[in-house]
Amino acid sequence: HYPHLFEPLDLGFTTLKNRVVMGSMHTGLEDRFYNYGKLAAYFAERAKGGAAMMITGGISPNREGWLLPAGGTMNSKMDVRNHQKITKAAHKYDSKMIMQILHSGRYGYHPFVVSASPIKSPISPFKPRKMSIKNIEQTVNDFARSARLAKQAGYDGVEIMGSEGYLLNQFLSRHVNKRTDDYGGDIHNRMKFAVDVVKAVRAEAGEDFIILFRLSVIDLVTDGNIMDEVITVAKALEAAGVTIINTGIGWHEARVPTIVTSVPRAAFVDFTSEIKKHVSIPVMAANRINMPDTAENIIASGQADLVQMARPFLADPNWVNKAKNGEVDRINTCIACNQACLDHTFENKRSTCLVNPQACYETELVYKKVKKPKNVAVIGGGVAGMSAAHVAALRGHNVTLFEAKDILGGQFNYAKVIPGKEEFFETIRYYINELAHLGVEVKLNTKVDKALLEAGNFHHVIVATGVVPRCLKGKLEGTDLPQVMSYAELLSGQKSVGNTVAVIGAGGIGFDVSEYLTANHGQALDELGAEVLKDPTYRPKAQSVSEWREEWGVTADPDYQTEGGLIETGDITPVRQVYLIQRTKGRLGSGLNKTSGWVHRAHVKSHGVIQVSGAQYEKITNEGIWITNNQGQSQLLRVDSVVVCAGQESVVELMPNVGDAPDAQYHLIGGAKLAAELDAKRAIRDGAEVAAGI
Ligand code: SF4
Repeated sequence: HYPHLFEPLDLGFTTLKNRVVMGSMHTGLEDRFYNYGKLAAYFAERAKGGAAMMITGGISPNREGWLLPAGGTMNSKMDVRNHQKITKAAHKYDSKMIMQILHSGRYGYHPFVVSASPIKSPISPFKPRKMSIKNIEQTVNDFARSARLAKQAGYDGVEIMGSEGYLLNQFLSRHVNKRTDDYGGDIHNRMKFAVDVVKAVRAEAGEDFIILFRLSVIDLVTDGNIMDEVITVAKALEAAGVTIINTGIGWHEARVPTIVTSVPRAAFVDFTSEIKKHVSIPVMAANRINMPDTAENIIASGQADLVQMARPFLADPNWVNKAKNGEVDRINTCIACNQACLDHTFENKRSTCLVNPQACYETELVYKKVKKPKNVAVIGGGVAGMSAAHVAALRGHNVTLFEAKDILGGQFNYAKVIPGKEEFFETIRYYINELAHLGVEVKLNTKVDKALLEAGNFHHVIVATGVVPRCLKGKLEGTDLPQVMSYAELLSGQKSVGNTVAVIGAGGIGFDVSEYLTANHGQALDELGAEVLKDPTYRPKAQSVSEWREEWGVTADPDYQTEGGLIETGDITPVRQVYLIQRTKGRLGSGLNKTSGWVHRAHVKSHGVIQVSGAQYEKITNEGIWITNNQGQSQLLRVDSVVVCAGQESVVELMPNVGDAPDAQYHLIGGAKLAAELDAKRAIRDGAEVAAGI
């Protein structure tokens, strides 16, 4: 399986056993010394799972370089001892361990921030101080000292973070570097700092030490570099002693999405490939690579020598071994939702993974094998129920999963048909295959009642009956009209809409529905036929890389001469006219997730969705929907159809009443427990935690 992916790579003084590298990912565990045991367990799992090489989250070379106050550093003997836990864990399973040295520059979230020029970034409240030449030289030494200490701690190498808009990238690009001394001006001056760092690290750490440099191959910001400049830097880095060039895509402040789920798979590989033509050291591709076919194609086609994935290793620590053994259908695919990893980082919380709650909790959420298997009924085949059934079966229990519909997946079945959310199919596929593999008895089309449960002789009953969309019947006149429907009726193909549509409710689902109704890629369910969605092997056609680039204004030319690789965005013709309405005043979508909400807001804007806030709903008639607008005036929005996305209600009928004394122990999880906002992250974790404890 995947012969190119599993061909070793000889680096001269050492060999990587395959081409799959776990990229750097800030988990939050790096920042506190008492969490290094947990961090070691996290890396041990991924090493055991077959990763050839792994890179830590960003570790700062000094205080100015902190990402957060008192962030992880490598500048003392104490640090060396802590990091040894990590290197030992990786080496036990024959994986190379690399420490990333990250100086955040003006992206740091603390008052000591520095940069090439004193220009505040749009994503940090702290204005940086301009670095003096002495300060730059000292920082070069700090990088070198960190690398030396990393070597002492047993690391096989370091990665120098030079992309995503961090300090060295701030020097490399005119976007921030306005200096007029030896470190500013043309690209030869702007790259001096980065090249000096590499030379100093090589001199300090010796020849038999891997140095990766994460190079921004496309900045995606104004005044960013052109490809000729990126190539000039790559060649200089090679000459200075870099072993492998890794890919960085876009600055964190870029207004082009680079890793969210709507970015097509492998959307940026041609930029890496362009670099490869000009250097003789290995190059590594990155961003939205999450499945073996994509990874194999990149290596087989010669576009890159290695692939880097970060989030897919959170989702499935055994990704590599599963690919090697041809068990691709059993990979728990990263759906690029960011909800439990990057969103957590921005909230200053420990990362984990929506589809794998064990990630970063390896020593805390443990699925122990049971000595005495019990009979477990799980009612509801949404993600909460599937997660509970999965973990209970993993532990050795006898599990029966009941689902009233003819399809597993629950609310994920609605999410998966949204253009740009095609990855959600993979989670359903994963669970279906795992449950079959573990011998879970899945009973579809089965409405459970108390009699059925009693007859089943269950020790535990896990109620994961989920939610139903909130209906406005009785609350809003006209909801009985045939052109009014719930999001569930629309997204399951039961009902279809006309050319003008009002969407009631601008939460996550209201945005999803608006995107579904306006996107000019993806296939509408009424053409497709909802039946096809029941096939676990079916995948809708995702947006192509070229369509996506045109929509977001990213150059199609890998040898781009436009600064930052940005171009004018293409004209978009929305499929329908949509009004997205909310009752609360203020900006729509302000409650969406930190790292992906802006992408959804940009989508509805570019697709001409008319956003209405502060509206009171009056009635729905055959003319459209009457509202009182935020000026207090009555207004008719002429629409053919109305889609209601006004929240959900829990379904809990099967929970015993107070005073009942059922034989089985009952547990309530997921949306059935709390419907306030649909939260797949909590649902999957709930299921896993309950099943881990029975
Ligand atoms: Fe991927 Fe979402 Fe898990 Fe992050 S939380 S690793 S994006 S599936």
